[in-house]
Amino acid sequence: CGIVAYVGYREACPLIIKGLKRLEYRGYDSAGIALMAADGLTVYKKKGKVADLEATLEADTLSSHIGIGHTRWATHGEPNDRNAHPHYSHSRQLAIIHNGIIENYGAIKQNLQQKGYVFHSDTDSEVLVNFIEDIRKETFCSVEEAVRLAMQEVVGAYAIVVMSQDEPGTLVAARKGSPLVIGVGEKEHFFASDATPIIEYTNEVIYLDDYQIAVVRDGDLIVKNIENVEQSPYIQHVELEL
Ligand code: GLU
Repeated sequence: CGIVAYVGYREACPLIIKGLKRLEYRGYDSAGIALMAADGLTVYKKKGKVADLEATLEADTLSSHIGIGHTRWATHGEPNDRNAHPHYSHSRQLAIIHNGIIENYGAIKQNLQQKGYVFHSDTDSEVLVNFIEDIRKETFCSVEEAVRLAMQEVVGAYAIVVMSQDEPGTLVAARKGSPLVIGVGEKEHFFASDATPIIEYTNEVIYLDDYQIAVVRDGDLIVKNIENVEQSPYIQHVELEL
């Protein structure tokens, strides 16, 4: 299971696919990617290898400078195309990648179903993205704020990255229990489960702490805690052999 996300000036799709391949050693059963194409937020996902996903992508139509990618190790719902990540929210405004387990997803799902939310997978992760969407709708807040409020209710382990159609240059990431590394480049940012997908582009990395949220908006990175207090992250220099 692994996460790779990118926002910057490079083509996101090949960069993310390459990054997912670097994380293959962690084990997985499915892979997927979400990109901001000309006609909006689009998800591509498939059971099997990253190479199988890659074969379904039509490279010349996928130009995007922001994207999120995932390799899944199924915990809730069998390995199949439907349960692969990223997951859209109900309105398709949001897409999420998630590593980990949301323990109280059952109660949250029931509550959302009563409000009319329809689910297209068996995963706990799809519940989380809809929970974030619902908080946004109820409080008219940003994705960042909705993620922060969701973190206060969610029990379990997660590394997530969320992308939104109506905040097209923004990535929101958060973690508790599952690893998440941020790569800080020149006018570009990376997120990944470990540094291996990042270090060919930058060796400045931040290891996000539990209950921290990282937001890249218009090229700037902000790290906050769950109380919405800005943190000054410790930027480490890593030198890894590829
Ligand atoms: N619990 C999620 C699922 O089953 C995420 C699994 C993972 O960490 O890859 O889809």
